[in-house]
This record gives sequence, structure tokens and C-alpha cells, in this order.
Amino acid sequence: MNKTYDAIVIGTGQAGPFLAQRLAAAGMKVAIIERKLFGGTCVNTGCIPSKTMVASAYAAHMVRRAADFGVVNNGPVSVDMKVVKSRKDAISGQSRMGVESWLRGMANCTVYQGHGRFESSKEVSVGSERLRADRIFINVGGRAEVPQMAGIEGLPYLTNSSIMNIDFLPRHLMIVGGGYIGLEFAQMYRRFGSEVTIIQRASRVARREDEDISTAIREILEQEGVRIRLNATCIGFSRRGDEIVAHVDCASGDPEVTGSHVLLAVGRRPNTDDLGLTQAGVTVDKRGYIVVDDQLRTSVPGIWALGDCNGRGGFTHTAFNDAEIAGANLLDHDPRKVSDRITAYALYVDPPLGRAGLTEEEIRKSGRRALIGRRPMAKVGRAVERGETQGFMKIMVDAETHEILGAAILGTGGDEAIHSILDVMYARAPYTVIQRAMHIHPTVSELLPTMLGELQPLSDGAGAPQ
Ligand SMILES: Cc1cc2nc3c(=O)[nH]c(=O)nc-3n(C[C@H](O)[C@H](O)[C@H](O)COP(=O)(O)OP(=O)(O)OC[C@H]3O[C@@H](n4cnc5c(N)ncnc54)[C@H](O)[C@@H]3O)c2cc1C
Repeated sequence: MNKTYDAIVIGTGQAGPFLAQRLAAAGMKVAIIERKLFGGTCVNTGCIPSKTMVASAYAAHMVRRAADFGVVNNGPVSVDMKVVKSRKDAISGQSRMGVESWLRGMANCTVYQGHGRFESSKEVSVGSERLRADRIFINVGGRAEVPQMAGIEGLPYLTNSSIMNIDFLPRHLMIVGGGYIGLEFAQMYRRFGSEVTIIQRASRVARREDEDISTAIREILEQEGVRIRLNATCIGFSRRGDEIVAHVDCASGDPEVTGSHVLLAVGRRPNTDDLGLTQAGVTVDKRGYIVVDDQLRTSVPGIWALGDCNGRGGFTHTAFNDAEIAGANLLDHDPRKVSDRITAYALYVDPPLGRAGLTEEEIRKSGRRALIGRRPMAKVGRAVERGETQGFMKIMVDAETHEILGAAILGTGGDEAIHSILDVMYARAPYTVIQRAMHIHPTVSELLPTMLGELQPLSDGAGAPQ
């Protein structure tokens, strides 16, 4: 027999629980379904555990640099991976349990554990149960892409999920993919003590960033001993004794890399392939992402898709913002839209990259008249005092309206400092608001007004990194 609810939420990632709470608090009878780990990717195999491990790696790095700061540490530095893992497990586990107990204790909300699958546009099965609702919210997230590569079958490769379970140091970790996930793991494992090689198909790492940022990130990693193979085509694998051989048919350099472990970090794919979307009539695009409109409605009335599975974000904050948008539209008569948000994210290499809005390349391509300001972190007092002077910051503004078009801060504190720029962008206020604001000394943010006082026209070659 069907159990009828006012709303069903499939998945307990970064959008589902918050939306479930909003709907339940509004008096709706809500069912929420989770097939595996409460909290989804971010909590269990993504942001939280990876940033916890980045913190361990940073500690190891700083101990190695202790003498630079006058701190005496005569012994060799080694990392106990069992402790790194147990610290990560404790922090991630606490978060997972927090989500589960929050949902289980939520009034008007019933938790189902199992794989949810549409039987029709209003029915979802979980095991032997059949649930029915007029409103269904899909928050199923994604998983690591495993690309078709020669020799991949039978290879004991790691993904962002399985690498969370290891408590030893790989002798030589070969990372396929030089995007955000690959770069974070590369620096982290190098700092733990592994040899690390990034094998990247594209001609640069972090290829969606401006070239100056890609180059600076590559240099930061290479200075720490991470090897980077760019333009790697026809990637394949074979075994040689205990070793794994990665065949990288690169334009130059050694055509083979030999290592002990392989981490695949070549992208993500949505968990939409076993969801009964055809029975529900929900349209997906070529890559399996659920097609949604600006208010996250799918092709079927009464069904919404939130978070990574709709292809409109790919971050925890975009998934959470999706829940806010859906909740505002349904419950507050507030027509919030996905297109209201400004691109913003961070890349947690050290020093981190904080990004907001358009890239310099996008602005150049748009042909609009713009101004650019740049400042190397070596000219930021706070960075000098901390002994962390790698990177630079830049900001682009519209030459006519003076609105900020985009910014990047690759440097210590960049993930935080970017927010003062982001908030002014949301306010659609001119850059002069930041320029005239009195900022606190000594901070990274205090140099934003200085940088804005040195804007120059964004023409070919102008404002090149110093
Ligand atoms: C290594 C790594 C590091 C990351 N770091 C960051 C970061 O620093 N900052 C950031 O913003 N983002 C980061 N991300 C991305 C972030 O984790 C995701 O964007 C975010 O978790 C997406 O949330 P979501 O709600 O869309 O889905 P998810 O968090 O993936 O949750 C989906 C949930 O749905 C469940 N599910 C799936 N199918 C079904 C089904 N049929 N029935 C029932 N349940 C189902 C899954 O088990 C899962 O619990 C990182 C990702 C990775 C992999």
C-alpha cells in the first residue's frame, strides 16, 4: 500500500535535509530517503574529510618549515597516517551523525534508508515500501567518474571515496586529473610524504582558471616536489611486478610513469542512472544531469532537482543555495532564482584560491571595457609576516559602471578575503565602496583598497603579473 506524504526528498546531501526541515516546519508531512551515508559527499567523502586532511598536511608542512620561524625541531618529520585518518573519521563522523540525528528527530519527517527510485511521477519506491507525494525533490548528488582508459579494468584504483579509507602512505601516488580534487590531494599527499605525480590531459592544471592562476598553482606544487605531466594523451595502465605503470603518451618527456597507487580525479557524474527518471518522465541532458529551470523545476510539474545532480553548481554552497531557492519559492512567495547567484568557490591548495565572478579571460572575450588591478602576495604585509608570500590577487571592474566583474585571490587567507569582494558584487555597488572602506591592519583584505587604487585598463597584456 502507498504511504502518502506532502513531500518526498531523495538524498540527504547538502540540499535535502535543509529543505526537509523547511517543509516540515511549514506543517508538511515529509519523507526523506538515504541509501548510504547521511550528509552525502561533502560530509563523508568530499569537503569535510578532505579539508580535515588538508589541515593535517598543512601541519606537516609547517613543522618542516619550523626553522624558518625560529622554532627548533631537530628530529625528522613523519606523518602517522593512522592518526590522520582517525582525526578525519572523527570529524566527518560527527557531522554525519549530526545530520542523521537531526533528521530522525525532526517533527513531521520520516526517514527511510534504502535506494529511492521513481515508479511514476508521484511515486517513489524504497525497498518494499512505496511512497507517494505531489512534491518530490531530487538531491542525489554525484560520484567519481571512472573514464574508459586502457588497463583500467582490474586496476585497484582509488577515487575520492576509497582514498578516505586508507591509513597508510602510498609510496608514489599517481593522480589522473589536474582539477580541484586532483590538486588538493596532490599537495596533501606530497606533504604527508608520498611521491606524487599529476597526470593531466590538458595543457595546464586548473584549466578553467585564468592562465596566470594555473601557472602559479603549478609552480607552487612543483616547488614542493609534485611532478606534473601535462598534455597527457592516450592514458592507460599496466602492471609491472608490484608497480603500476601509467602510460602517458605525452608530446615530450618520459612516456611512462611508474607508481604504487592511482587516484582517479577526472570529474564527477550525477547519480541519475538508476533513479527511474524515465518512469517519472524527467528529462536529463547528454551527461545525465537533470534539466531544471531557473527555479529548479524539472520537466515534470511537482518534481524539483537540487544540488550536483542538476549540473548547475557542483559545490556544497550551490547545493545549499538550491534548497534556499526552492524553499523561498514554495513557502515564502519569494521568486529567488539560480541566475541571481554569482559564481564563487575556493580551491584548497595551500595557499588557497578564492574566486568570485568572471575570470579575466571571460571578460576579455566579452569585449566589454574593463579595468584590472593586481598585487602579488609578496606585497601584502600579512602574507610577509606569516611567511606565506606565494600567489597574487587580482580584480576586474567594469570601466563604465564601476561594478566588480570578477576577482581571484590566490594567497594566504584568499578563501576568506574574497567574501568582501563577493558581498559588494551582490550589492551591485561600485568598487569605490571597498576602496573607501577602512580595513583592518594587518590583514590580506586591507590591500584590496590599495589594489583598487591602482586599476589600469584591461587591454592586451595590461596588468600582467609582476
Ligand atoms: C574530494 C571532494 C572535495 C570537495 N570539496 C569541496 C569543497 O571544499 N567545497 C565545496 O563547496 N564543495 C566541495 N566538493 C563538492 C561537494 O561535496 C558537492 O558539491 C556536494 O556534496 C553536493 O551536494 P549534493 O547535495 O548535491 O549531493 P551529495 O552530497 O552527493 O548527496 C547526495 C546524497 O544522495 C544519496 N543518494 C543518491 N542516490 C540515491 C537514491 N537513489 N536513493 C537514496 N539516496 C540516494 C547519496 O547517498 C548521498 O548521500 C567536494 C567534492 C569532493 C569529491
